[in-house]
This record gives sequence, C-alpha cells and structure tokens, in this order.
Amino acid sequence: MELSSISCGNCGAPLRVPAEARFVTCNHCQSHLAVKHSDSVTWTEKLGELDERTERLEDELSDLRYETALQRLDRDWERERETYMITSKNGHRHVPTVGGAIVAGVVAGGMGLFFMIMMAGSRGGGGAMGLFGLVFIAVGIGIAIHSYQKAKDYLAAESRYRRRRSQLRSQRRST
Ligand SMILES: [Zn+2]
Repeated sequence: MELSSISCGNCGAPLRVPAEARFVTCNHCQSHLAVKHSDSVTWTEKLGELDERTERLEDELSDLRYETALQRLDRDWERERETYMITSKNGHRHVPTVGGAIVAGVVAGGMGLFFMIMMAGSRGGGGAMGLFGLVFIAVGIGIAIHSYQKAKDYLAAESRYRRRRSQLRSQRRST
C-alpha cells in the first residue's frame, strides 16, 4: 500500500495515510480530516471547517428562500389588498376603514333625515317625499353595514398577512 506523508490540517502532526484515502482521523488530535489531492500536493482539511462552509452555504440558500417567500407573500398581499380597495369620488383608491363606514352611514342617513325634515315642513305631497327620505336613510344604513363588514374583512385579512410574515421571520431565525 502506497502511503502519502501529509500533515494534520488541525494540529500539524505528520501523518502517513494510504494514497487513495479520502478521509482520515488524526492520531494526535482526533480531528476528522478530509484528504485532498492535487497533482503535486496532498493536504488535509479538518471536516469541521467543511461542515461550517456547508452550513454557511445553507444559510445563504435559506436567506434566498426567505427573501423569495417574503416577496411572494408581499406580492400576494398587494393583490389581495387591491380587492378590498374602495375608489372614492375623487378617484383615490384606499382601503376601507371602520371610521369611513360610519361616516358614510352618517352622511347618507343625515341627508335622508334632512330631506324628510324639509319635506315635512312643506305643504302637499310631503308624505311621498318623506318616504323617499326614509329610503335614503335605509340605503345609508345598508351602505354603512356593508362598508363596515368590508373594513372588518380587510382588517382580518391584514392581520392574517402580518401573522404569516412574522411566522416566516421566526422560521428564518430558527434555521
Ligand atoms: Zn491532528
């Protein structure tokens, strides 16, 4: 058996190993060594370092996976968020809020009430007009309930998104 003279990559002790050996254990420091060959040189690397390098690579990979997953989550959320968006009269898109729903309801209801009061003050035909005001109030309440529901759904969706995002972050930390 042909033996190569090498030194331990950890403690430097001279070792004689079979030329074709790929892994050896140093008799001096018990390090597990990988035997590397080039055309002219044979040397050893402590396996711990190799493991560390592999772990670093895995870290970088999981960084990349994390970034990708995060980007996908954010993109999905942008798309989902879009479905909740309300276009206001001046063309601005915004997310529904509970406050906005209440305001919408109060405005519509107030207009109906105002209409009814106006009609009640006028003579003749006031009854039918008053009914119209009542319908206006009912519609206002309907709008308010609908917007309120939408705002609540949006808030639930948003907290789902935030939870997923922090889950992703904690998974990242644990790897
Ligand atoms: Zn050694």
